[in-house]
Parts: sequence; structure tokens; C-alpha cells
Amino acid sequence: MSFIVQKYGGTSVGTAERIRNVATRVAESHRAGHRLVVVVSAMSGVTDGLLKLAREVSPEPSAREIDMLLSTGEQQTIALTAMALHSLGIKAVSLTGAQAGIITDRLHTKAKIANITPKKVFEYLDSGHVVIVAGFQGQNDDGHITTLGRGGSDLTAIAMAAALKADTCEIYTDVDGVYTADPRLVPTAKKIKEISYDEMLELASLGAKVMQARSVEFAKKFKVKFEVRSSFNHNPGTVITEEHAAMEDVVLRGVSLEKNQAKVTIIGVPDKPGVAAGLFSALAESGTNVDMIVQNVSAQGTTDLTFTINKDDLPSARKVIEAQAAQIGARNHTAQDGIAKLSVVGIGMRSHTGVAATLFSALAQAGINIQMISTSEIKISVIINESEGARATQVVHDAFKLGN
Ligand code: ADP
Ligand code: ASP
Ligand code: MG
Repeated sequence: MSFIVQKYGGTSVGTAERIRNVATRVAESHRAGHRLVVVVSAMSGVTDGLLKLAREVSPEPSAREIDMLLSTGEQQTIALTAMALHSLGIKAVSLTGAQAGIITDRLHTKAKIANITPKKVFEYLDSGHVVIVAGFQGQNDDGHITTLGRGGSDLTAIAMAAALKADTCEIYTDVDGVYTADPRLVPTAKKIKEISYDEMLELASLGAKVMQARSVEFAKKFKVKFEVRSSFNHNPGTVITEEHAAMEDVVLRGVSLEKNQAKVTIIGVPDKPGVAAGLFSALAESGTNVDMIVQNVSAQGTTDLTFTINKDDLPSARKVIEAQAAQIGARNHTAQDGIAKLSVVGIGMRSHTGVAATLFSALAQAGINIQMISTSEIKISVIINESEGARATQVVHDAFKLGN
């Protein structure tokens, strides 16, 4: 008998039939004698639909009310999953995030989990129930409903597994595991058997949305080993775990693509202390997340500053940039969307040379222009045109012979 936390994502519970399929799988595990906590997401499209509705009634909906609204998506699925289990003769009970004891900070729409007191969960498990927990949500210490950021059901599952000290955590989704690239983009992508937390974290942060990045960070911190698998078959998936020596033999683990980026260039910035500090402080205050930053070598006392942000932040960031550019006395500024970030990730990069050369050559041969470059110990990222993103991913994947 094992103690298992399972998570089923939006596509896996996307229709009544799929919810019945999930219930059948859960029932099998339950009948095999396992103690089960099942985290479910909202049915696919529901969260997006609710967000769209919110914007239709208000141009700037309050974050507290957004959380109140979005949390209903997962609340539907927990009840439906419990009902489907009942009809299979299984004792099951649904719990909201708050009922499961998930307490968060007060940052609505991207709350962090502060602590979990899973008293009710244990009570129900002890009385033989399968416990179905709503993903993506919690409650702050004032009793207000909060949500954990998009894709947050992954975090609920991993945090529950840590808090309950479960034996295993299984993330069920619509692909067989983590691949060397998004299999929808690169049909030859290969399933990865085992990957370190750091590589998974980089891939997830750099666009591979198969796992929410914050959930991987949490798993690393609390050493929660987990497996990504498909809810549509019984194939072995991908195990995400602590790094071990053999992992460094693989130079590159995968390629990821992050679309929806925007690039801002401020031209003719006076080259003196405090200019960058002022600009980026103002952007931070406006809630803009700045990603890559490049400053040119200065010539005749001025320099150019280029950085990338999320496309969605561009309208609000524009106002700040215009005001700051005027204040600094910059000559000009430009802002464009339609760009993407392509990254290659692997802990083997620490001990192997030539990764950058292979990456740049592959893109050059395909006639794809690199606009910006950034590197860290285990990744290299380049900014390219979004329209070339899919082709670039395929070309780079081929160049590193990652596929089948
Ligand atoms: P869920 O609703 O189950 O949480 P998501 O849609 O959030 O599922 O994540 C699964 C999707 O992630 C897949 O359908 C796939 O297209 C995408 N994806 C992106 N990069 C990768 C990758 N490297 N490996 C596997 N899937 C990936
Ligand atoms: N329903 C939420 C979302 O769509 C959380 C999740 O699916 O993990 O982002
Ligand atoms: Mg997801």
C-alpha cells in the first residue's frame, strides 16, 4: 500500500466522459489498496472563459474578485469527480483548497503557499475516502480565497504531497511525459526518462508549460520526487528528481520556446551611474517583469539599452518607458512585440563545450537572425522573431540530435 497524490490537468477532466475516465483510474488505484489524494484542475477552457467574462464586465477587475471567480472552475471539477467515483461505488469526498487546509499569503492571483494544515484530509483518508482537492486555490489568513498563478494545480499537488509526506506524486496530463521539446511543435521530440529539478525548472520557466515553474521550485526545495504521465494511457512517464552524476553525461536535455515576448530599446541613453537603476525601478514599481537586458558599449557618452518583457505588460510598460526616456534625456526608444525566446537547457553544459557554437550555427544555416543572447550555467537563450519560433525549435532540436 502506498500513499499517492495524483493530479489531473484541465484536458484530462475536460468532458464528462474524461471525468469518468479519471474516476475509473482513481478507482483502480483505490481498489489496489492505496491511500489517495486527487488534485484536479478546472475543465479545459473554463479558467480562460471566466477571465474573458471578467474583462467583459470590467476593464480592470479586482484581483480579489478574480480569485473568487476563478476558484469556481476547480470547485466544479472536484464535485463532478467525487460524483463519478460515487457512481463506481467508491467513497470519495471533495474539498476546496481552504477545506484542505491550504493557507497562502495575501497576493491575489499569484499567492504563495504559506502553510498547509491537512487535518480534514487525514480524517477523510482515515475513514477510507478518496479525497479530491481543488487545485490552484487556497485561502489567506483573513479567510479570503486566493489562487496560485496559472497552472497552479501542479503546485497544489506537489505541496500536498510534501505536507502529507506522500510516497509518490503523479502529475497526469495530456502528454506521456516531459519531452525534449513541446511534442506539438516538434513531432520527433523524445520522451525524457529522468530529469533533474534544475533542468525541469529552466525548461518550465522558459516556456515548456507542461509543469508550472513555481511548482518545480517547490518540489526542489522540499525534495518531492514526482512523475509526469498521461491520463490517457498507462505508459511510464518522466521522473523529476534530484541531480545525480550520470545526468551530466547528457549535454542537452531539451529545447523550449517562449512566445508572447516584447523587446524595448532605449537609444542614446546618457552613460552615467543611476540611469539603469531609475529606469528598472520604475518598471518594477509598475509591476513589469523585465527578462533579458543588454547594454551596448558606450560611444560618445551615450549607450543603447535593450530589454525584453512579456507582451501583455507592454501597454502599461510603455507609459513608464516614455516618461523615463524623457526624464533620462534618451534620444529615442522603440518597442515591438512579435518576438520569442528560444532556449536550450542541460546540466551537461557545465562540463561540455561547443553548445553555443552548435546553436548559433544551426540558426545561421536556417537563416534565422539572433537579436539577443543570454546564458547561464545550464542554459543558453536567444531572442528571435516569433514567426520563426516553431521552425527554429525544430532546427535546433535536429542540430543537437535530440529526437527519435
Ligand atoms: P494540464 O492541463 O494537464 O496541466 P498543460 O496544457 O498545462 O496540461 O501542459 C501540457 C502541455 O504542455 C502539452 O500538451 C504540451 O503541448 C505542452 N508542452 C510544452 N513543452 C513540453 C515538453 N517539453 N514536454 C511535454 N509537453 C510540453
Ligand atoms: N485552472 C488553472 C489554470 O488554467 C490552474 C491549472 O489548470 O493548473 O491555470
Ligand atoms: Mg498545466
